[in-house]
Parts: sequence; C-alpha cells; structure tokens
Amino acid sequence: MISALALAAGCALAQTPKVVAHRGYWNTEGSSQNSIRSIVKADSVGCYASEFDVWMTADSVLVVNHDATINGHIIETTDSKTILSQQLSNGEFVPTLEQYLKAASGLKSRIVCELKTHDSRATEQMAVKEIVDMVGKYGLADRTDYIAFSPEAFTAFIKAAPKGCGVYYLTGDYVPAQIKAMGGAGIDYSLRTMKRHPEWIEEAHALGLLVNIWTVNAEDDMRWCIDHGADFITTNEPELLQSILNDK
Ligand code: MG
Repeated sequence: MISALALAAGCALAQTPKVVAHRGYWNTEGSSQNSIRSIVKADSVGCYASEFDVWMTADSVLVVNHDATINGHIIETTDSKTILSQQLSNGEFVPTLEQYLKAASGLKSRIVCELKTHDSRATEQMAVKEIVDMVGKYGLADRTDYIAFSPEAFTAFIKAAPKGCGVYYLTGDYVPAQIKAMGGAGIDYSLRTMKRHPEWIEEAHALGLLVNIWTVNAEDDMRWCIDHGADFITTNEPELLQSILNDK
C-alpha cells in the first residue's frame, strides 16, 4: 500500500523496490565484504541482487575487492599471486572474478558487477571485455547488471553487454536524458545526489529508465527511497530493508 508520505509528496504509485546487497551481505556472522560467503548470504536471505567490485591486477587477472589497495598492495600495479594471497576478515582469500562468478552461477539472485575506476583507461577497456565474456561463460548473462563510475567503462559496457544486461552509471553527473541517449538502463546514484535531485526519479521513469539508490542503511532513508519510487535500493542492511518492505 502506498504510504501517506508518498501521497502527500504527490508520488505516483510505485513498485516495491528490490533489495540489492552492497558488496554482498557482509554485515553478518562469518561474512566479509566481497567474499564468496557474502554473495551466498545475500542469496540465502532472498536479496534480489548482490553487488560486488572488480579490479584487474598488473598481470591482467580480474579480482573481487572494493578498495584500490589491500594490505598496502595496489591491486592495479601488483601481480595476482600477491593479491590472491591476501586474506579477508572472514578468513577467505581475495577471490578471483572467475571464482566469484562460479559461486554466483549456483545461486538464484542477480549480480551487479562494478568495475572500479582504474588509472589506465586501456585496462578498463580490457577488463570490460573480459568481464562480459566470463559472465557469459558462466551462464550469467541474463542475470547480471553492470555499473561504473568511469564514463569510459560505462559506455564500454553498453557496447559489450548483451541484451538483458542493464548498464547503470554511478557518478551522478549525467541527467536521466543523457543516460538514455547513451544507451544506459538507468541511473545508480548516491542517496545524497538523489536527495538533491528527487525529480530525476520521475524523469528517469518517464524515459523508461530504472533507478537504483546507494548506499542506504538508515531506516528513514530507506523509507525516503521507497516513498520516492526507487526501483532498487543498495544497502549494507538487506534484512532491515526487507523487514520494512514486508511491513508496507
Ligand atoms: Mg561497489
């Protein structure tokens, strides 16, 4: 049921937003950000999708990690042997993208693959092609979406990804009409950006685009996103968001 707040704000009847676990479901026992466990946990609690981050090492191996560095090693300029021997807080080692996709292929939820912004645009182009190929190899093409802050990576994913994969832009400096013209599936902007530009939600929908908002962890912010008609909410607290949605 639409809330009184949404009615007061004049919002159109919206779909229930879908829950996306940010860096997997890591804020739970035995898990860790971007670990294999985090994607399994996101799936096990019924998240619509699980988001994760990808870097390419100096020897061109795709690995899953958020930060540009791990234990002081810069991923982009370090060999894969060193990076893959680094341990996460839950005892797992940094996974390769291949290991991650293999795990995802046995699950039900969608995946949201973020290519981090590299120092080298050429590395990003190579990474986009290899990621799309590998996602296809593991049979995940129809349940994968791509996100990027780098405009070059965003447009490269639009060119490379097969139909059925949504490509979303993260930086917040394009209005919905620009995203539409570039061939994107939607905007994937921060809560701060969307609170500055709530009108972009209706603009995006009018253009046939979808809207994801990140990273929404507080209950009142979750309710703001729900009442304003977000299609997806990316959160570190997927079970809290699920409980709010279930009470609606
Ligand atoms: Mg990310």
